[in-house]
Amino acid sequence: MVEPDKMQVRFWGVRGSIPCPGPNTVRYGGNTSCVELRCGEDLLIFDAGTGLRGLGGALFAEKKPVHAEILCSHTHFDHICGIAFFAPCFSPANSLRFWAGHLPPGMRIHDVLTTSLSEPYLPNLVDVISAHLEFKDFEAGNTFSPREGITVRTAPLNHPGGATGYRVEWEGRSVAYITDTEHRPDELDANVLRLIEGVDVMIYDATYTEAEYVVHAGWGHSTWQEAAKLAKQASVKKLVLFHHDPSHTDDTLDGIAAELEKVNANAVIAHEGMVISL
Ligand SMILES: [Zn+2]
Ligand SMILES: [Zn+2]
Repeated sequence: MVEPDKMQVRFWGVRGSIPCPGPNTVRYGGNTSCVELRCGEDLLIFDAGTGLRGLGGALFAEKKPVHAEILCSHTHFDHICGIAFFAPCFSPANSLRFWAGHLPPGMRIHDVLTTSLSEPYLPNLVDVISAHLEFKDFEAGNTFSPREGITVRTAPLNHPGGATGYRVEWEGRSVAYITDTEHRPDELDANVLRLIEGVDVMIYDATYTEAEYVVHAGWGHSTWQEAAKLAKQASVKKLVLFHHDPSHTDDTLDGIAAELEKVNANAVIAHEGMVISL
């Protein structure tokens, strides 16, 4: 499954805000944000939404110890609610390291996540989780190296309560993960542009269409039209629309794909199970 010389992206949850299973979301999927990134043998995970459960099942089936770097965009529920259902949490052979850069001074990712895994939100799971957990706070804008040979660049995004955008670089290849964020009305977001400059794959919050955005300004999300503008300006090689609005059916997303194709031939709409190899 892991190819030692490949960077590989696999989408386990592509939906924003709330899971939305049902007959109208079968093809693109209803699970919330979770993206697996392999840099050779190394495992990184962007966000821990409900898609994390499926990834946990796949890792469990491999019957090998799991050592993962989990890069949190932020800690809104749709991005963390998969942790309690992630099978690798429940084996002492595994280690999981959570990274977050969006929290205000004085707040720590350890406290936020352990609170979310305790009563009254869930049964007290902190005592039940047997994997080795580690929690790393940083400031969005910092650059760090979670594993040898991997560089992670970050930037603050424009979202209520804050969020962090990531760019992971390995062996001359790069993937940017930018959700949840709202664009500025008159100019392209300089923080985002810095992260995506010349990137191989740009995963971007395309919750709304431009028409829908008009009545959702201030909610902290962007549009597929803005994604296309950013990708063009920064010479992005492949654009992936992500964090789909729960009201967007498979047919809605097909319609967006057709529009998108007219302005960017190297753009796709993320669906559960989609794999991109670099
Ligand atoms: Zn979200
Ligand atoms: Zn959010």
